[in-house]
Amino acid sequence: MAIISINIKEGTLKREDYIVGIDLGTTNSLVAIIDKETGKPMAIEGKDKEVIVPSIIYLNPNGEILVGNEAKPFLIADPSNTIFSVKRLMGKSYNDVAKKESLFSYRVIDDNTESLVKIQSGNKFYTPIELSSYILKELKHRAEKALTAKVNKAVITVPAYFNDAQRQATRDAGKLAGLDVLRIVNEPTAASLAYGLGLNQEEQKTIAVYDLGGGTFDISILNIHSGIFEVLSTHGDTHLGGDDFDKAIVNYWLDNNPKLKDLLKAYPSQLQNLRLMAEDAKKQLSTSLHFETNFISRNADQISNLELTLSRKLFEQLVQPIVALTIQSCQQAMKDAGLQNKDINEVIMVGGSTRVNLVKEEVKKFFNKKILNNSLNPDEVVALGAAVEADILAGNRKDILLLDVTPLSLGIETLGGLMDVIIPRNSKVPQRAAREYTTSKDGQSNLRISIYQGERDNVEFNRKLGEFDLTGVPGMPAGMPKIQISFMLDADGILKVSAKELRSGVEQHIDVKPQYGLTDEELETMLLDSLQNAKEDMNFRSLQEAKTEAEQLMYATSRFIEKNQNELSDVEIDTTNHFVEQLKKATTDGNKDQILKAHEELNDFTKTFAERLMDKAIVMALKGKTIDGN
Ligand code: ADP
Ligand code: MG
Repeated sequence: MAIISINIKEGTLKREDYIVGIDLGTTNSLVAIIDKETGKPMAIEGKDKEVIVPSIIYLNPNGEILVGNEAKPFLIADPSNTIFSVKRLMGKSYNDVAKKESLFSYRVIDDNTESLVKIQSGNKFYTPIELSSYILKELKHRAEKALTAKVNKAVITVPAYFNDAQRQATRDAGKLAGLDVLRIVNEPTAASLAYGLGLNQEEQKTIAVYDLGGGTFDISILNIHSGIFEVLSTHGDTHLGGDDFDKAIVNYWLDNNPKLKDLLKAYPSQLQNLRLMAEDAKKQLSTSLHFETNFISRNADQISNLELTLSRKLFEQLVQPIVALTIQSCQQAMKDAGLQNKDINEVIMVGGSTRVNLVKEEVKKFFNKKILNNSLNPDEVVALGAAVEADILAGNRKDILLLDVTPLSLGIETLGGLMDVIIPRNSKVPQRAAREYTTSKDGQSNLRISIYQGERDNVEFNRKLGEFDLTGVPGMPAGMPKIQISFMLDADGILKVSAKELRSGVEQHIDVKPQYGLTDEELETMLLDSLQNAKEDMNFRSLQEAKTEAEQLMYATSRFIEKNQNELSDVEIDTTNHFVEQLKKATTDGNKDQILKAHEELNDFTKTFAERLMDKAIVMALKGKTIDGN
């Protein structure tokens, strides 16, 4: 409900409680509201009369910050201080983006490989959260101007595959921009809402949302029934989009134009100009069959004037392989959803690149000429849907539930660094799940619960979301405690984890703030953060792992020998102790290869009699799933 308040100074009435819908895109961002007169969502334009705010930030060395179209010219004029595609860095550590670093023209800082990336401009450091907040501030500002009221609340959209850390980072960016983020909504869900799908409670439909933007591609399969949105599957490519179309054109021009090639060799900075020209060509070819231009380049000692042409037919040949990749993704998404093409009732086209005719044709072909929703502006449709969701949250529409899906599995680390999944990928959100574990050592009173997200068996390859300790478990023999770990994933995709030892009732409820998200204090000190942490040493990590496993084996062995002294020969005991000593020495020395060798020797030797003697309880203790103690 809108709150009406009176401005005493001016004697005017003000609606204070607007909730805006925001599409914070990789390439372009927009803000939308529900038009009071028509009741329809509409995107808000800025003073440049454009509704699209290019997601570009110019950090002028004099301290001024420009956003959007005002910042765009600096991509060429001052690339090292002009930030684009910052969405790709949201919630990411340097490790996550290290390989992609060459894609950025600005400096991505490697301070501590496990912490959030930062971007250097001049002698200042910025986090992606902070940079995104500048874009959000611009959107907030233009909404306030249009509404002549304060705007403090927003719904922000994110790709369906965004993990907790990325969602949290988006929330933090909103907070930093002075926006209370009421809901993080998946982009495909927003696009469906914009087309009014799901607003009719009677309706039951399975739809595909095909979103081809500037640098990313996403396909989502949704089921809508009784006003509930359920994401059945998602697939895509985070480095595939309209930019690749532009690159294909640039390459074609270069390959067929020796003069242009020479020019670029002499003046590499002209590449950016050429790319913009290619984008113009692409856009024009969405409506006409032919493009031609004079590429005029002014450089220190010469003015070059080169004619560049491109036909739609040729353009389509150039981008055909890229479009084919998106269709492959569609195939995979359908497979993941367990559906056949005939099961899809409607297809929704999202993203500026779906204006390309070949894209429309191929998508139509793949989904068997189903209803193709492309009547709404594909650049605006996500923001428009976010405004509809905002309207629902404001209580202006009948109850409509939004149900999303978790794109990656969530689980905890078990002994030996293994991932144990508690909520599998593609589970519906909100979701609650629990699982029981036990200890690996006698009398263990503390347990470290480490939470991960990802599909690999080795947690090292997955993303750590956070960890906490369950303390005060009364001493019990290994394998006795019953530790229940519960995961609760809320509607925003934020995870809460609790651990309870069922025999004693000891428990700990912890909200897992994703490790890459920021706490309030961190937000405050963000600017002061310095580069002080040393690079993480990969070798150290694998050594630690070998050590942990060695310690585990030594512990199990000594327990075993203790318990079974009477059944074992002196030679067996002495030789075992000898191998244990060797392993202990290797562990102290810290030589990984030696540890692994000694580990194997001890293992091989004890195997010969262990099988003979192991009683049932020990079998349980050694083979049962155990959480690593600390
Ligand atoms: P994102 O969701 O990544 O922020 P958008 O959905 O705004 O991106 O799409 C931006 C992309 O759409 C850019 O690559 C742009 O060149 C492309 N685009 C915009 N208009 C057209 C057009 N008329 N024809 C072809 N491509 C277009
Ligand atoms: Mg988009």
